[in-house]
Amino acid sequence: MRTIVDLHIHSYYSRATSKKLTIAGIAKYAAIKGVDVIATGDITHPKWMNEIERDLEEDGSGFFRLRDGSSSVLFTLFGEIASVYTKHGRGRRVHTLFGVSSIAAARQVNKRLTDAGFNLAYDGRPIVGMDVKELAKIYLDADPDALIIPAHIWTPWFAVFGSKSGFDSLEECFEEMTPYIYGIETGLSSDPEMNWRVSALNNVTILSNSDAHSPEKIGREATVFDWATRTYHALYQSIKNQTDIAYTIEFYPEEGKYHLDGHRACHIQFTPQQTAKHKGVCPKCGLPLVVGVMNRVEVLADQTIQAAPRTKIPFNSIVPLPEIIADSFGVGVASKKVHTEFQKIIDSLGNEFHVLLDASRAELERVAQPIVAEAILRVRAGKLHINPGYDGVFGTVHVFTEAERATFQPKQHALF
Ligand SMILES: [Zn+2]
Ligand SMILES: [Zn+2]
Repeated sequence: MRTIVDLHIHSYYSRATSKKLTIAGIAKYAAIKGVDVIATGDITHPKWMNEIERDLEEDGSGFFRLRDGSSSVLFTLFGEIASVYTKHGRGRRVHTLFGVSSIAAARQVNKRLTDAGFNLAYDGRPIVGMDVKELAKIYLDADPDALIIPAHIWTPWFAVFGSKSGFDSLEECFEEMTPYIYGIETGLSSDPEMNWRVSALNNVTILSNSDAHSPEKIGREATVFDWATRTYHALYQSIKNQTDIAYTIEFYPEEGKYHLDGHRACHIQFTPQQTAKHKGVCPKCGLPLVVGVMNRVEVLADQTIQAAPRTKIPFNSIVPLPEIIADSFGVGVASKKVHTEFQKIIDSLGNEFHVLLDASRAELERVAQPIVAEAILRVRAGKLHINPGYDGVFGTVHVFTEAERATFQPKQHALF
């Protein structure tokens, strides 16, 4: 059974997130997107845990359903912790996803962290000043099947491989706990192909999640499993053994805000080669450039894609449907016109993943404006114009040039 899973989102208790990220809001948008199993997010937050217990019930599978039965979306208990600590004389900032199969396990971890003096209540994604490998032990004590997944591993400031904050290998970070790291999250700024070049990742499962801070972003990246039954155990086994994973759904990594190198304020956007030519220094302000994900991968890459020894999980690059519609019409993604077309397509064809991945040309042309149908098919074929992101600036992906867009006429509706 195809099961689309997103293990990384945040609730409205996290900083800079949408008020709509309630349990009901998450369930609603997961269904619109076509996500079958969605993270609760923020399992360290005491008030959010109370809402989880109030609104969800475990159904015997280790996953959770809405108590009121209003949605078939399944929830899984996952949260993110920012570990900030010093190791081998250097400051480290590492973000990690932790997943458990029971509320009791999540509560047990929270009690231990609170008893140790950490404040979990001020942010859904708390900063915990503890070596992340010790945190891994606490989770495994509470639940032997806990999943520990380094998040967006390449981002410069907050990741296990981050150029500004991290390590050069999983072993350096997790030491004796490394064998319990079964999966990593690529993050928006890298795709699996980039990760296949790093032999340090040969034995872990490459996963993709949305890291959504608003419900509209749910599922912008996700992992597609093929399970006999939808259970936490199936999720655990798949990630541990790299089995029953069909493919990952990927953002174009160039869209990520740390893909290339540069300085946002100086409008300097460099490829790794240009950065090397300038010896890592900004030609405008003379300060070190913020080194992006592409460059960091180049530094740690030690094998060709072909040489990657393990079974590689395929991937499918998408552009979110609202962005496709916005580009087709040449308007902003938040505009009414985009919303109306999006709603019309979803109401008629089902969820967004069906539209992006499965719907036939005939289906699309029956419902969508011709230019939108064409755009969806072009995205599937990878025919795009891309301007990469850098130093916190999101990249842009366009399906059409101005001239191409002008050749499409709006669909004429019959009068009767
Ligand atoms: Zn994070
Ligand atoms: Zn500069």
